[in-house]
Amino acid sequence: MNDRPQVLVVEDEQEIRELMALHLLRQGYRVHESSSVEQARKQVSENKFDLLVLDWMLPGLSGVDFLEQIRHSKIPSRVLMVTAKSEPQDIIEGLEKGADDYLTKPFNPDVFMARVRAILRRAVDKADDNSEEIVIDGLKVNFATYDVQLQGEKLHLTPSEYKLLSIMLQNQGRVLTRDRLIENIQGEGINVVGRTIDTHVFGLRKKLKEWGDHIETIRGVGYRVKLDLV
Ligand code: CA
Repeated sequence: MNDRPQVLVVEDEQEIRELMALHLLRQGYRVHESSSVEQARKQVSENKFDLLVLDWMLPGLSGVDFLEQIRHSKIPSRVLMVTAKSEPQDIIEGLEKGADDYLTKPFNPDVFMARVRAILRRAVDKADDNSEEIVIDGLKVNFATYDVQLQGEKLHLTPSEYKLLSIMLQNQGRVLTRDRLIENIQGEGINVVGRTIDTHVFGLRKKLKEWGDHIETIRGVGYRVKLDLV
């Protein structure tokens, strides 16, 4: 039996591809490499990958086109998009097409590995995720009773703040776009816009005090709860 995670790196620039593969191998992952979507498609049909590291700009079909195909298929792999595009609208497009996270080039190898670990850890958490309660760094949220406590003290959140906190905790490490958050807290008779989200997050951070530092603002894109400080 071999339970080391299997990763496919799809990247046309040989130097970058080899650098990523080297770092992944050093951490004990099993690594396959592709330089095009065509090659990658063959590999995903023959192997089961826990994670795809997917470059955006590839010869022929782009990484984001491939991402779309993957999400419309039954391939369950997690996807880390790697892109030289750093404009918020590009990042939003990648996330909305189903990337679990993204990394912009040039990147620091330590950050790359931290993102990989976070995505794979999330995959494991999800597998045994039947608990009604989550406790992170002194913050306890009970999803059955809607009870939120910080260092044992009850917090009084508005319904929107509670919904935002819940979705961010359940997707920790993952960047959530404003649109996704709007969809989540939109209720009957409530008209939510991007700026409203920012206001709720502001209120939430205030109530969470220092814990609020875990909520990272991704400029122009959205928010993420992160636990690693990388
Ligand atoms: Ca490329």
